[in-house]
Amino acid sequence: MSNPPALLRHYVNGEFVTTPRTFGKLSPIDGRLLGRVCEADAELVDRAVAAARSAQEGAWAHYSASQRADVLLRIAEGIERRFDAFVAAEVADTGRPVHQARTLDIARGVQNFRTFAELIRQTGGEYYEMRTAEGEDVFSYTLRKPHGVVAIISPWNLPMLLLTWKVAPALACGNAVVVKPSEDTPSTATLLAEVMQAAGVPAGVFNLVHGFGPNSAGEFLTRHPGVDAITFTGESRTGATIMKAAAEGVREVSFELGGKNAAVVFADCDFEAAVAGVLRSSFTNTGQVCLCSERVYVERPIFERFVAALKAGAEGLKIGYPDEPDVKMGSLISHAHRDKVLGYFELARQEGATVVTGGDIPHFGDDRDQGAYVRPTIWTGLADDARCMREEVFGPVCHVAPFDRDDEVIARVNDSDYGLAAAIWTRDLKRAHQVSRRLRVGMVWVNTWFLRDLRTPFGGARLSGLGREGGRHSLDFYSEATTVCVNP
Ligand code: NAD
Repeated sequence: MSNPPALLRHYVNGEFVTTPRTFGKLSPIDGRLLGRVCEADAELVDRAVAAARSAQEGAWAHYSASQRADVLLRIAEGIERRFDAFVAAEVADTGRPVHQARTLDIARGVQNFRTFAELIRQTGGEYYEMRTAEGEDVFSYTLRKPHGVVAIISPWNLPMLLLTWKVAPALACGNAVVVKPSEDTPSTATLLAEVMQAAGVPAGVFNLVHGFGPNSAGEFLTRHPGVDAITFTGESRTGATIMKAAAEGVREVSFELGGKNAAVVFADCDFEAAVAGVLRSSFTNTGQVCLCSERVYVERPIFERFVAALKAGAEGLKIGYPDEPDVKMGSLISHAHRDKVLGYFELARQEGATVVTGGDIPHFGDDRDQGAYVRPTIWTGLADDARCMREEVFGPVCHVAPFDRDDEVIARVNDSDYGLAAAIWTRDLKRAHQVSRRLRVGMVWVNTWFLRDLRTPFGGARLSGLGREGGRHSLDFYSEATTVCVNP
């Protein structure tokens, strides 16, 4: 794969800028240094917010919704023109299989801009009529206005997909943005800045600052008084910190946070489909998707058979270089994250888990031994209150437990600090609807996983998030309504 440029720069007010402090980006595939990234200081973040404010109130304010939609379509075309470069950058940063970066990450980046271009063209305001006691007919209507400057903080697990999921609706609504991608995945965001420049997005409408969270670009940005709204995807703990920063100035927040998601497999399921589905939901992207199932509950009559089939499936997942044919699992994002995942592997043993498969590092006998790999891992035998059953591991691991009754499994699924998603595998649709209604999560899949119409609301309950994005829910978050009451 080709490498990202040796020095990744910020993009502020339509220009690429460097700052003296830099940090290294290591390849999770083989541990070598991929390049260096400039780290923003408070002064640069200040400049980025000021540029965003001036662009939002200046050039960008003259664009109609339809003209902004045209800009979004030009951005989508710009990504498509450089599709291979985006794929290479995403793969180099994350170690994920090339086919996945092509079909999921970068393809969704394009789709996000197209979806919100279409949506903003079609979205009108509200209109109501009423008659007063005096018999006068008055009417009210709403205007949708941008917040102004939106800060977007994104994680490393699906970098391009998740960043554009927020940039597209924010721009569609007429905001200017300052984005801070994860320090672990700076490359596609930098390419996106190049696309913005080439697409003629007015200077200052899209700004990019690189850096870390605490005492770095992330904190400088979220605490900045010039930011009107903050949208964040990442860990629940980070969300809580950002919420405190947002409380100063009572700024709006939208949070997409962690999960400890369940898959529930009923004995009447299509067995092969359920095994294939749980393999996907537990191990896609090396388990680094907020929606992954780390808790799998299987109805007792098929429990043993299911565990055996899942084990065979997990052991058949090819771990390898991103461009190898049939590769299914890449590396974890970094050595630091691997240490965290290995810590949970150790903790699970201490908590009494039976390791059905995995639980260790694969040995390749080549430079991948310097990479950040682990084997897909299945546990059984943990108590529901074990830490490994309650905390998000965010790696290729699931625990499989038997259950006997619907009420029982619903209570066990709901007994979580998180509430993001669940998947149900059954042929009995009545049961599926009844269980869906009782699960305390933001998203339920029935006989599928990950599939989602981008117009539906997306988000989680409790530690999994605050608010919903997707379709008009995104437009609601990225705009303010003004109501106008008229006595004609
Ligand atoms: P993280 O919280 O460590 O970092 C996310 C981003 O926040 C990074 O850009 C980081 O630099 C920044 N950040 C960290 N501390 C900050 C601070 N104090 N102030 C401002 N910014 C700060 O998360 P991560 O490890 O990058 O991502 C993995 C997490 O994201 C998992 O918990 C996963 O479940 C969650 N996630 C959730 C969704 C969802 O839609 N619900 C989607 C993807 C990932």
